[in-house]
Amino acid sequence: MGGFGSGRQEMGRDRKFPDEFFRLDIRCCHREGVLKAGNQFVMKWSRAGKEVASIEVEVRADDLVLSYRHKKADGGWTEIRSPIRLDWTRCPFGGSRPWLICPSPTCERRVAILYGKELFLCRQCQKLVYESQYELADARAFRKVERLQQRFGWAPGFFFGAGERPKGMHHQTFVRRHEEYETAFKEAKVLVDDSLALLNWLSTHPC
Ligand SMILES: [Zn+2]
Repeated sequence: MGGFGSGRQEMGRDRKFPDEFFRLDIRCCHREGVLKAGNQFVMKWSRAGKEVASIEVEVRADDLVLSYRHKKADGGWTEIRSPIRLDWTRCPFGGSRPWLICPSPTCERRVAILYGKELFLCRQCQKLVYESQYELADARAFRKVERLQQRFGWAPGFFFGAGERPKGMHHQTFVRRHEEYETAFKEAKVLVDDSLALLNWLSTHPC
């Protein structure tokens, strides 16, 4: 998961990128207002609140240039500088929305999300079943919280949190079930923290 930060560092230096998938969602960048030619920013991903990857992004008129270092299997580092074409389409109710063009020359699909590993490519090119698995895991964690809330007669929904001990429920039973609820809540909270980090805009500056 990610966020944005100031891009004052030298391009690509110290931007480590581990060997797992990270999402680059162009809609988030658009929402944050950073897709202006000349902008440079750092995009960060965290897992359980800890930063695990970051890349530098330079916005040009027709593309984004991604810069980072990728750790090879032999432990050495490769400097990567990968331009990703941008495309815009008009929305039916005004405004326009951006798309990324998958940089694989045999693909060039227009997509909202690229998945970064060594390179940022579309889901098909990365041969991903990852996203659906990931979303299923998310949905399961939230459903579990809601199910436990309902058992107490509380309003279901992660953001509603916990309520009072229901009338007629034995104290011991409440304590035991409440522990189960707390565990489920913590598991779901990690996912919420990650997605909030994705929208955590730190700063941007023009070149
Ligand atoms: Zn592709």
